[in-house]
Amino acid sequence: MSTTDFLPMPDNSGFFGEYGGQQLPPELKEIMDGINDAYLEIKDTDAFKNELADLMTHFVGRPSPVYHAKNLTKKCGGAQIYLKREDLNHTGAHKINHCLGEALLAKHMGKTKVLAETGAGQHGVALASACSLVGIQCEIHMGEVDIEKEHPNVIRMKILGADVIPVSRGTRTLKDAVDSAFEAYLQDPVNSLYAIGSVVGPHPFPMMVRDFQSIVGIEARAQFMTMENALPDYLIACVGGGSNAMGLFTAFLEDGKVQMIGVEPSGKGLDTPDHAATMSKGSPGVIHGFSCYLLQDNEGEPLPVYSIASGLDYPGVGPQHCYLKDIERVQYETATDKECLDAFMDLSREEGIIPALESAHAVAYAMKLAATLDKDQRILINLSGRGDKDIDFVAERLNLE
Ligand SMILES: *Cc1c(COP(=O)(O)O)cnc(C)c1O
Repeated sequence: MSTTDFLPMPDNSGFFGEYGGQQLPPELKEIMDGINDAYLEIKDTDAFKNELADLMTHFVGRPSPVYHAKNLTKKCGGAQIYLKREDLNHTGAHKINHCLGEALLAKHMGKTKVLAETGAGQHGVALASACSLVGIQCEIHMGEVDIEKEHPNVIRMKILGADVIPVSRGTRTLKDAVDSAFEAYLQDPVNSLYAIGSVVGPHPFPMMVRDFQSIVGIEARAQFMTMENALPDYLIACVGGGSNAMGLFTAFLEDGKVQMIGVEPSGKGLDTPDHAATMSKGSPGVIHGFSCYLLQDNEGEPLPVYSIASGLDYPGVGPQHCYLKDIERVQYETATDKECLDAFMDLSREEGIIPALESAHAVAYAMKLAATLDKDQRILINLSGRGDKDIDFVAERLNLE
């Protein structure tokens, strides 16, 4: 299997079971179908595949290692814990995998500009990096509230040559940035490409972003076989939109014995409004052009959501995850802010690895699970990103100064 092989799902209309599709007016559907056609045409050409593979190796630094976290294992006193080190990628997280794919796709489609929204700025920085490499203009829409909060990432994007467009409408956060970026995209869909930041949005994005991320699991499966001559018993990944989780899970979906767990943020508690546990608390609905489990009010409007990890606070979730939940192939669990912070410190102190707060949710759940399992069982965590971006916040929360 190569990075971009077309995996059997979704169907031709972009549905994973009853989720996904294109919940859009006809003129937008046409634009999305155009992207789908171009993607299907380009993705298996040698020119595209070779260029992407070469950049994955020499620019991103792939393959990222699988690391046996022996100290953390010992602390938990149960199953062996392993980490897929996506935090070691250039730009510090898994997001570069799909940003590079999307920027390269835009170039091969003859586009001159890539547009996107960003919340905390992680997607914006990864995309800006990919665009300067590929030589394509990059325009990032960002809410004014987020611009103020995430100053270093705003500067990074500017240094990388991106145009950062402040969004002053609504709550001046991520959802408004999505609307603004999408409107800007619609002004010139012929010369530009909208680059979605996770396995969400209308078809073909959930499929495309998954295909670009699937390199994580393809590598991990082979690495694990080489190291252990066995497959992991459990895969664990945090779930915001769900791209790093789909990236790890996809190559193992047919390995019936491998159990998979997606971890969402329960924030201040599932019995409070301050969480983003879409799978536990959501119901089927529509957001940003696709259907999925959704945290919504009685009118079907997305609810404000909360997580200590800004990469996880999305009220929807990728449509393939919804399908995998319904067929019970993947189990969805949660970790609280407190569990996340404890895991953040534990991984830092035991292993010398500072995780992103997003990834620390997966670590938190894995530590709990490991303690209940035997020593001959194996858990593989997708360590989706590094925590440098989070240190000031953590220092303040834990009074480290
Ligand atoms: C953005 C981000 C996430 C959440 O996105 P998914 O699409 O759910 O993977 C997780 N971890 C890190 C480090 C991120 O930057």
